[in-house]
Amino acid sequence: MSKIKVMDENLANKIAAGEVVEKTMNVVKELVENSIDAKSDEIKIELIDSGVKEVKVTDNGIGMDRDDAQLAFSRHATSKLKNLDDLFNIESLGFRGEALPSIASVSNVELKTSNGEVGTYITLSGGKDMDVEDSDLQKGTTITVKDLFYNTPVRLKYLKNLYVELANITDYVNKMALSYPNIKFTLINNGKVLLDTDGKGDLKKVIYQIYGADITKKMIEISGENDDYYIHGYISYPEMQKSNRSAITTLVNGRVIKNNELNKIITDAYHTYIPKDKFPIIVLNIDVDPILIDINIHPTKMDIKFSKLDTLKDLVYQEITKQLERLTLIPTISTRSEEALRESTIPLYQAFHNDAAPQPKYEETVLDFSVQEEEQEEENPEQQEEQEEEKEEKIRIKPMIPRGIVYSTYIIAENEDGMYIIDQHAAAERINYEKVLKALKQETTPIDLLIPIKIELTKNEFLIMKTHADILKNYGFTIEEFGDNTIIVRSHPSWIPEDIAEECIRKAVDVVISKENFDLDQFIWRMASTMACRMSVKANDYLSYDDQVWLLDTLRHCDNPFTCPHGRPTIITYTKYDLEKLFKRSLD
Ligand code: ZN
Ligand code: ZN
Repeated sequence: MSKIKVMDENLANKIAAGEVVEKTMNVVKELVENSIDAKSDEIKIELIDSGVKEVKVTDNGIGMDRDDAQLAFSRHATSKLKNLDDLFNIESLGFRGEALPSIASVSNVELKTSNGEVGTYITLSGGKDMDVEDSDLQKGTTITVKDLFYNTPVRLKYLKNLYVELANITDYVNKMALSYPNIKFTLINNGKVLLDTDGKGDLKKVIYQIYGADITKKMIEISGENDDYYIHGYISYPEMQKSNRSAITTLVNGRVIKNNELNKIITDAYHTYIPKDKFPIIVLNIDVDPILIDINIHPTKMDIKFSKLDTLKDLVYQEITKQLERLTLIPTISTRSEEALRESTIPLYQAFHNDAAPQPKYEETVLDFSVQEEEQEEENPEQQEEQEEEKEEKIRIKPMIPRGIVYSTYIIAENEDGMYIIDQHAAAERINYEKVLKALKQETTPIDLLIPIKIELTKNEFLIMKTHADILKNYGFTIEEFGDNTIIVRSHPSWIPEDIAEECIRKAVDVVISKENFDLDQFIWRMASTMACRMSVKANDYLSYDDQVWLLDTLRHCDNPFTCPHGRPTIITYTKYDLEKLFKRSLD
């Protein structure tokens, strides 16, 4: 019996809008998805001139019988869907059954297919003059689409955009390879191999085959679950950045999807770890009961609605930040394993806490301590020790000793792990940022200004300001109306230093009126980062030795000591091993 069913009219109409063949990428997509549906585990895509001259897709799938092969080129035929319900079931891939006839109508097509029992060879020109012959019985399908758009005026347009076409196709095939690590994907353009995965099911290997060794080394595995979702995949170290979102791949039940809110929560999790205009590399699989999702079909992308989006967002945010918080994120030439890092942390802790070092010299010192301190320790020494150890373990940089400053900006420091270069402004900015954030979260006592600050606004700005005056009041800014389109600020929160109060107040007002849609998180971040920048030592400012010691130690204790609030690095390192290697003292 033929596996291809003729679709009902309603469904055909629903889909019709979305299946105009407007890009060579759509052709590749259709053919590849057909190959996946045919249960192939090897799919080879060969292009000539980005596919405009030729797209050839070869698979080792179940193939088609002769009826199906012929029906594949007639309108409204699809083997995948019977009714609208199927359209919303994510299990079926190729939902645009009409695409193949559309592709055939603007190209010259050759189809060779065999289900192992009958081999069929079909040729069409502009979707017409179908010629059917016997072919060999090698199982699978090879479909060749030549001279795409040859009979349409748009052809010239594509010849001018070969590079863009190829970039889109590569991006798509990469994502399919990430979705299906069990399928071997090969992508070739004009004889050059662009991707060749091994199809052995190892996601990290696919990442390596797409992004290369350097990036793969800096990818961390994540996984987590709640009642409705299971997520697993890889996220990049913040130092591995891309200038657009294309390296963020999200999959739902194995299919590449696009969901803006999910993308946003991922970039939010990297907030202050990387600059605002940079993006991480992410491959995130989400497993969920299909009942909880609703798919909105669009010709070039899959948008999806989750019925419990908030719990998914929480899970994704939590798992990414958890991993980032565990890492030592100082950019370096070489990396060490988490385990090696922990191992070397404990002896150091002991070296700094004499109670853990059982040497007579230290015991003598302990005896010199005051009675009160001894008593305190006796009360609950174990618990205290545990607490301290826990605290020390959370700190991801060991104590550093400053050795000097270069260019009046970069502090050179060392500890037994390596040599560090710290940007004094970025480091101070991080410290102040976390200080301001904490202050913003606490109740604040407003400080009255000796001379209230008058700010003139446009009508529009004034209205926005009026709407949000309460929020600023919560943070200790007292604002009143003062005649036409003018406000007057009478107090500011106590954590703002007096000498920069006016500047900070004006900035706070700017932040509120700069956007039509007020976002509290954005507001807090912009306030805190701007004020932190203003409050911090600048490059070329003089730092005494004690200032340097304080700065390094305070930075070390920050929640995220590795980047400033704008995502730039505060600290970079040469490990001891790096130095030995650079000076050829170490041979491996
Ligand atoms: Zn700054
Ligand atoms: Zn900064």
